Amino acid sequence: MIDSAFLKENNARYLWHPMAHPNDMHENPPKIFVSADGVELTDVDNNRVVDAVGGLWNVNLGYSNTTIKQAISKQLEVLPYYSSFRGTTTAPLIELSVKILDWFKPEGMCRTFFTSGGSDSIETALRLARQYHKVRGERDRTKFISLRRGYHGTHFGGASINGNANFRRNYEPLLPGVYHIPAPWDYRNPFEETDPQKIAKLCANLLEEEIIFQGPDTVAAFIMEPVLGAGGVIVPHETFMPLAREICTRHGVLMIADEVITAFGRTGAWTGSRLWNVQPDMMAFAKAITNGYFPLGGVLLNEKVVESFESNRDSFGAIGHGYTYSGHPVACAAALATLEETARLEVARNSRVVGEHLQNGLKKLEEKYEVAGNTRGIGLMAAIELVSDPEKKTPAGKVTSAAFFEAAYQAGVMIRVSGNNIILSPPLIVTVDDVQRIVNAADLGLAAASKTL
Ligand code: PMP
Repeated sequence: MIDSAFLKENNARYLWHPMAHPNDMHENPPKIFVSADGVELTDVDNNRVVDAVGGLWNVNLGYSNTTIKQAISKQLEVLPYYSSFRGTTTAPLIELSVKILDWFKPEGMCRTFFTSGGSDSIETALRLARQYHKVRGERDRTKFISLRRGYHGTHFGGASINGNANFRRNYEPLLPGVYHIPAPWDYRNPFEETDPQKIAKLCANLLEEEIIFQGPDTVAAFIMEPVLGAGGVIVPHETFMPLAREICTRHGVLMIADEVITAFGRTGAWTGSRLWNVQPDMMAFAKAITNGYFPLGGVLLNEKVVESFESNRDSFGAIGHGYTYSGHPVACAAALATLEETARLEVARNSRVVGEHLQNGLKKLEEKYEVAGNTRGIGLMAAIELVSDPEKKTPAGKVTSAAFFEAAYQAGVMIRVSGNNIILSPPLIVTVDDVQRIVNAADLGLAAASKTL
């Protein structure tokens, strides 16, 4: 057994961490977690903390789900791997391909293309969207439109539609033919407007204007997260996604819902699209499909998309895309168990009910602390936006976020810092007591953050 001195000595020295500067990781080494149970993590110094991050929006059912663990170990014994490239498949993949459609019946999904994660799923959705139009003979429809502040992973396609400069600047030039419209967000928007419904309409108007300006026959798809996650938990007004759906339909543009975070109950509804009463043409999922225990993702396709491919017998309909780990049998076994457990534990309902305590608790903190410029969220996804000047909404600096993080950690809660946002996305099995612990830690975090100003 490697001892803790070795772990601390070598922490972040010989690897580069995602989404961090290597030097910053040397100076402020990451927390080393060694075990977890329920909704709590234990670090190398034996501190126990509530995981208010839920892994990375994925450990919806916590760390102790033995049904999923056993499904994984059983599949590892029986058949640890085989590919699903043309000509071969495996039993868990076939079973999952049937069962997953039950989940997405209300959205009208009828086929799945499996991948190994969120970025892969987004890349797949973009590629299949272009191919859909080519199959139909509309070969100029190659462009994509997305929301500023959206997050869609880090592949070149995903980074191109991404709405945050941090994930774009150093990797440019990105994909040509990608255009962004403002996110429907009441706290910050270019319209100096605060009415969420008016903002939704203004953004929808800009979407339509952009489609018309580009030429509708050149636009392949519009993609959005039903609730924007990594960009700071931005909850669009309920009218936005239906308006966007109607505009897409009218102009022959596919609507892709990036449900990598929102599928499987996070918002209090089983999917983000269902929350807003929308049927997209494609839905990307990943993360909670295996409770984070094994990498898996996928793209769901509706009848319209499927029909175009499957009624096409020439080479345009053949899919020249896929991953070695598309539909990995161990991942599929994990997913089958996760879907059953997710339904059994009724986590969407818990997310709705317990999530209300979280959102109300945060609103009270927003009133108490000036540094909490805005708190927002839905279900069990929430953000506290830290500002140094509440009037001007000036984003607070790194020192302020870091002070929040450490104070919350000392109070026994792991939170996530993303720029000047504190992001909360605990497992969906949390209780009201767990949420109260999170809110209490946020209270202490905000007190510490205030002192840095
Ligand atoms: N889309 C969304 C909405 C996401 O939140 C994420 C990851 N946070 C991704 C795509 C990319 O997923 P992955 O990190 O698994 O590649």
